[in-house]
Amino acid sequence: MTSPGMTSPRMATAATLDRNDPLAALRNEFHLPAHGNATTVYLCGHSLGLAPKRTARLVNEELERWAALGVEGHFASSRPWLAYHEAVTEGLARLVGAEPLEVVAMNSLTVNLHLMLTSFYRPTPQRHRLLIEKRAFSSDRYAVASQIRQRGFDPVESLLELAPRDGNDCLDTADICALLEREGRTIATVVLPGVQYLTGQRFDIAAITACARRQGCVVGWDLAHAIGNTPLQLHDWDVDFAVWCSYKYLNAGPGAIGGCFVHARHAREFDLPRFAGWWGQLKHTRFDMPEQFTALEGAEGWQISNPSVLACAPLITSLELFDKASMPALRRKSVALTGYLEALLQPLVPHKLQILTPADPDARGCQLSLRLQRSSAEARRIHEALGRHGFVCDWREPDVVRVAPVPMYNTFTEVAQFAIELTALLDDSSH
Ligand SMILES: *Cc1c(COP(=O)(O)O)cnc(C)c1O
Repeated sequence: MTSPGMTSPRMATAATLDRNDPLAALRNEFHLPAHGNATTVYLCGHSLGLAPKRTARLVNEELERWAALGVEGHFASSRPWLAYHEAVTEGLARLVGAEPLEVVAMNSLTVNLHLMLTSFYRPTPQRHRLLIEKRAFSSDRYAVASQIRQRGFDPVESLLELAPRDGNDCLDTADICALLEREGRTIATVVLPGVQYLTGQRFDIAAITACARRQGCVVGWDLAHAIGNTPLQLHDWDVDFAVWCSYKYLNAGPGAIGGCFVHARHAREFDLPRFAGWWGQLKHTRFDMPEQFTALEGAEGWQISNPSVLACAPLITSLELFDKASMPALRRKSVALTGYLEALLQPLVPHKLQILTPADPDARGCQLSLRLQRSSAEARRIHEALGRHGFVCDWREPDVVRVAPVPMYNTFTEVAQFAIELTALLDDSSH
């Protein structure tokens, strides 16, 4: 990609930042989608992370084992399918700040949310409400509303929605805690995002969990946009449960296996209502096919079916990359990379664009959400022009472009290229 800005002092600064980046080599671990003879500037890891080069080999190994071993692959290979998902347990536990007992890779995000709510949303006539945020992701909203109905309550009365103050896009921790203090005794369960998908706001999980638990609420977090993006300490933060998918910042591929956290204090609560299946059954008796279900301790006790080996294999390579890089180092680069993007876009604020994402690095991950100050139709044309010029970011109606410079594979040079391109498009009124 070449543009008039390519030789500017700005590009020289970006190149220096890249040379000094201790994580720069990680980019070579990934396939970068092509744009003509060059590669795209891929800023869409919040939607689907890029493919690590090693993943194909690992998936192929399993296909070859299947071809060579048939059913024996369950027992006889170097990574027996029977216990295949256990290969990711330690890595996931490190990423979310949990004990291995507290995490499991299984299903996909929304399914896991349903399984968690089956156990952790137990409404009573006095305490039947479920708190979410007003702009919750559609799937989460459908899931919680259907759970409320399934228990014989009505979402009109039982679904409580947190809205930002008038004129604000983000929620304030103090406002959330004030609402919990006011209404907490009627709220059974709280479900909030670790990072909000639309604004990129990072929630203060520790503070909000503490406020909610003081009121006797059960607290669950949707970490779709938080895992692999921001540091997490779910055990110490006293979170009851959490769910996530692995195809965004975890780079485990479309439809990859999701995951779940259940705090150790619930590990042996075998009386909790739960949907059972043979994979949640005690391992040493699982194949005796006992009539009576006896759940495994910890998060594994919420499994139902035997997990897809092909959906799990990519997560193994992905977690190896996180261990190689280390989350603290990734976070340091992320704060610098996103801060750099913000600084370069600052001259466009507020007349040409508005940044919905909080300015405080502690209150965001890598994503910046940009509201283009144009009509929706013009804003959409600008997003389309970005795409034609090789910049992959995404579009949310009516006027928001979400851009995520991912520390695992994006560069300061790409951030500068994007800023130059967007500035040019916003200056030029003829797209
Ligand atoms: C990406 C995302 C999902 C996706 O749900 P699946 O069950 O994996 O299809 C759900 N909720 C949020 C908040 C998301 O960002």
